[in-house]
Amino acid sequence: MALSKFHHQESREQLLELLIDYHNSGKYDEDLNRAGELAIDHIKNMTCAEIEVKSPAITLDIDETTLSNDWNLVNPANPYNADSWDKWVAQACAPAIPKTLELFDLAKERNIDIFFITGRHPEQKQITEDNLTKSGYQGWNEIFTEPRFSEKNQFLVFPEAATYKTAARWSLIQRGYRILLNMGDQYSDIKGDFADMTVKLPNPFYFIV
Ligand SMILES: [Mg+2]
Repeated sequence: MALSKFHHQESREQLLELLIDYHNSGKYDEDLNRAGELAIDHIKNMTCAEIEVKSPAITLDIDETTLSNDWNLVNPANPYNADSWDKWVAQACAPAIPKTLELFDLAKERNIDIFFITGRHPEQKQITEDNLTKSGYQGWNEIFTEPRFSEKNQFLVFPEAATYKTAARWSLIQRGYRILLNMGDQYSDIKGDFADMTVKLPNPFYFIV
């Protein structure tokens, strides 16, 4: 069904149905795998000389890139909101996205440092580390979490996710790293500079500016 045919409330329901079908038919997983393979092939095909730069690194987003939050993407009975999201994160039970775990292990094998740059907040860092470990990720270098407010004036520290994520990559460059690959499911994960290659994973379920 063409998206242009959707109207108002009915359209919203039809769109939801379409997304649920995309997810449950296995097509979402197929697309995730295909994009993940691009990243894996990129690292696999690099020569030792290409990797043996001073400090090679990759940067990964977490939600819908490293961990899957399927429960909430396609369950109209349990829609996303700030509370349900925080409760889900606190359970630390999101499974790994298989191709990303494969990429992660390959990077470790090739002595490439691994950094997570997530929109999750500093108070969620420990629980996120627990979740990553439980789902099979071990041996990353550091997790960047996004500060929620500035302490002084309670304004958002970064106006957009892309600004924060670009700044985090820049801080790695400042520390002498070369980012061989940056991967995320949002355009705000890959917008901006400071990586040799970017891979965008599919996510038609939500959009983060
Ligand atoms: Mg994400």
